[in-house]
Amino acid sequence: ILTAPLPQERGGNNSFTHEALTLKYKLDNQFELVFVVGFQKILTLTYVDKLIDDVHKEFRDKYRNEFQQKGALGLLNGTFDFKDDFMRLLRDAEESSKVRAPTVMKTFEQSLKSQKTVKCMIETRGEKPKEKVKNKKNKGSKKDGTEAVAVPSKASAADKQLSAAGDKEELTKDEILQKNREEFFRRHMKAGEKSRSPKPDAQKEKGKKPRVWDLGNSNAKVLDYSNSATNGSAETCPVEEFDPDMALGDKNREPGRLYDLEYESDDEAEEEKVVQNPSKPSAKKGGLGGMFGMLKGLVGSKSLTRDDMDPVLEKMKDHLIAKNVAAEIAVQLCESVAKKLEGKVMGTFTTVTSTVKQALQEALVQILQPQRRVDVLRDVMDAQRHRRPYVVTFCGVNGVGKSTNLAKISFWLIENGFSVLIAACDTFRAGAVEQLRTHTRRLNALHPPESHGGRTMVQLYEKGYGKDAAGIAMEAISYARNQGFDVVLVDTAGRMQDNAPLMTALAKLIAVNAPDLVLFVGEALVGNEAVDQLVKFNKALADHSMAQTPRLIDGIVLTKFDTIDDKVGAAISMTYITSKPIVFVGTGQTYCDLRSLNAKAVVAALMKA
Ligand code: GDP
Repeated sequence: ILTAPLPQERGGNNSFTHEALTLKYKLDNQFELVFVVGFQKILTLTYVDKLIDDVHKEFRDKYRNEFQQKGALGLLNGTFDFKDDFMRLLRDAEESSKVRAPTVMKTFEQSLKSQKTVKCMIETRGEKPKEKVKNKKNKGSKKDGTEAVAVPSKASAADKQLSAAGDKEELTKDEILQKNREEFFRRHMKAGEKSRSPKPDAQKEKGKKPRVWDLGNSNAKVLDYSNSATNGSAETCPVEEFDPDMALGDKNREPGRLYDLEYESDDEAEEEKVVQNPSKPSAKKGGLGGMFGMLKGLVGSKSLTRDDMDPVLEKMKDHLIAKNVAAEIAVQLCESVAKKLEGKVMGTFTTVTSTVKQALQEALVQILQPQRRVDVLRDVMDAQRHRRPYVVTFCGVNGVGKSTNLAKISFWLIENGFSVLIAACDTFRAGAVEQLRTHTRRLNALHPPESHGGRTMVQLYEKGYGKDAAGIAMEAISYARNQGFDVVLVDTAGRMQDNAPLMTALAKLIAVNAPDLVLFVGEALVGNEAVDQLVKFNKALADHSMAQTPRLIDGIVLTKFDTIDDKVGAAISMTYITSKPIVFVGTGQTYCDLRSLNAKAVVAALMKA
């Protein structure tokens, strides 16, 4: 039934709409299973994701032994006694959606923003430009006008394909991603313009060219690897093979600087002003938006009780969940805020809402600024002094952006004058080595030895496919030591967090090579799924390590931040659960789309109504 291509190596839930039906499906790569739920498109079933996840987990766990012994195909002839389990899970899922129904925030599709998006999308498809639904700031209006034509044609084509199969009015996943990306860049460019010098060709920049630089599948010419040499050859890339401007993104940035994530908080997100007279409504209408606005009970100078705070906390919890913070973590966060504030005497002119909000904001900033900060450049210099390469290992599931962000980090290191050896230790996924080779060539084209005193700034160390990744990493590190490379970046094969043999292999690679930094790469996009991956990666590294003090994940690379608009909750969940810092944030597909985390910016986006 599924005519859309199934993503091969992802663990998330996907959907496919055909005429009146929507199918949601989930792949389990470990056991080669597909779980599909079909339902009438017009039904907005909020529990489908939960149902499919629960069925997946329960089915997998129930038949795990058989799968391991016979494989998924071996079970085809068998019978499953799963009907009762399924009915129970279905009931549970239905019940859970009912329980949550009254408190659930508006979904993205129901929100005003999504309507705005539909308009944007319509404009980009060549129709007469329409007036923006909401134009809060005049300064943004000019930009917004040009933004309408900024949707890459490639994406539009993909959208068209998808919408041909489905409902035109319903946003496809790609459309939502595209919209979020636009929104991200709109904000980012605005913020960037504020803090940096104005761009001379800003007009041109605003009408962004479509990003055709899609590694891996779009450009046959780029993907012609037939002439490539192996084992660390540092060929330069013929210039016509790629557009350096596109690979670089923002031309006006300062080379080598890792900019902070910037986020412009909305008018709606402005701090609620102190209400001086409780009997009069606040002069600033809608100060905190619908979310907190209705809860402005003044407490005067009495001490805060649980009863005062509970309605506010409930709203905040839902708000956090709607921003993609894992539900359990949202609950814990609100609980800790309540504990902190209970019994506290409030100032006369303070509202419960603003007090709770302030405490939550502080807690969130603290979570995002874990005690151990990772300063890669300083640590690389330290390793240099000891005449050894600084080694970073990247791990994560497939498709999250490991290789792309590894390449961005290489670029940043090179711009800081450090030479990089990329160790191709994903010896598993077809095309993984070639993808890194393409990056190596491009990076060398952007930073040829001539510009670096004859020094080759980036090289690929690879041994093809099927070999032991830990061994290749080890060889690469010793090669880097001998050749005087400053940094070794080890790409590893994507693996699902539940795949015990592959997790053991990763633990071995890390134990044997003792990298300076183990980075977990996770998408901001998937929210709770990323948290699950991270927790399980960490646990698996602990469980499968042979060392007495196992080496765990040191930090996080949070990718695809440009695709989530203000649903930044994954950043909170991931740092909360592991206390590990987010070292890098991926914000797009060019080499410059790398940022460092700015806790305040993330919290501002999170609190935004
Ligand atoms: P890997 O399998 O983990 O190595 O993932 P890849 O590096 O191949 O990336 C998978 C896809 O995600 C590619 O199409 C990348 O261009 C894209 N990607 C990676 N990082 C980002 C990011 O920060 N933003 C966006 N929008 N796309 C990204």
